[in-house]
Amino acid sequence: MLQPTSSVRRAAESQGTLPEPEELSDGIWSFAVPMDSQGIPFSLCYAIEDSAGNLHLIDPGTDSDENWALLQKNLRRIGRSVSDVESLVATHLHPDHLGLAQRIRAASGARLILHREEDRAACELNLGLGAGDLARRAEIWGVPAAHRSRIAHSHNSAKHDSFPTADLLCDAGEILPVSGRDLQVIHTPGHTSGHMCVRDRRERILFTGDHVLPTINSGIGLGGSAPTNQVDDYLSSLEIVAEFDDHVVAPGHQFGFRNLKERCDSLAAHHLQRTIQVRTALEQAPHAHIWELANQLTWSAGWENLKGFMLISALAQTEMHVDFLRSGLAERHLRVHNIT
Ligand SMILES: [Zn+2]
Repeated sequence: MLQPTSSVRRAAESQGTLPEPEELSDGIWSFAVPMDSQGIPFSLCYAIEDSAGNLHLIDPGTDSDENWALLQKNLRRIGRSVSDVESLVATHLHPDHLGLAQRIRAASGARLILHREEDRAACELNLGLGAGDLARRAEIWGVPAAHRSRIAHSHNSAKHDSFPTADLLCDAGEILPVSGRDLQVIHTPGHTSGHMCVRDRRERILFTGDHVLPTINSGIGLGGSAPTNQVDDYLSSLEIVAEFDDHVVAPGHQFGFRNLKERCDSLAAHHLQRTIQVRTALEQAPHAHIWELANQLTWSAGWENLKGFMLISALAQTEMHVDFLRSGLAERHLRVHNIT
């Protein structure tokens, strides 16, 4: 059973209200930051005090004038100000996690820390290369001419045009430059290829970004191009963090919780059910295009209703599962989770 660490936070999440700042542990606070995404009312920013009294923020949240004012208010409540912020750590490049980074960096001179792979992806996306040529992808996926207009980009792409890039790159296993703390980088590719979790080894807290959320399935392959199969990456990353079952999970949305391994197992099973669906569709039509296969799968919004970004994402997901199966990478994961 999922065990929320705070019933107040759990209740706020289910009522869609913004919870008050909370001190998780000595010198570690959690701030809820409003966001405009449907169904997800806020992200969670974490402020960590170091031994010199400086602050380090993990995932400052969505950029807006209101959130900028809210951050200053939250910092005042803990007796701090933006000028105390020495570093900004982003678990991944999505604007609901690092959008505010630019303003904070400009105001405080804080360094932005990203995993090396995430910085590469951000640079690529800034050059307009990451998503690839949509028309070409539509052709590869076998999207019929009559449906091409359905995959026209409809999401607010202007907001995604510019991703902040890092002042400091980090790699798996490294300890972040936060004096008096023991914060380790855990590279967890899958949601995006350079996604990372931060593990507080002393306090036994794992900051999971969007890699593991308590009840939401945050999706795979949402960060531009990736060098490897992201279904395989994501499931392997779940195995890595499941080792920290004795840690409190401090996620990027919703509320903190315990019982990480159980949550990882249920997320893996969820994605592997999709793999099985794709395998069945492939058995019935081994030479089918991605479009035809995706059509055979169940989608919560209903296949006919998918368009724009949602449809592109469904097709990309189908393609990732097809590659996952054809490459043979799926076998080990299905075996580990006893799924046949
Ligand atoms: Zn995300």
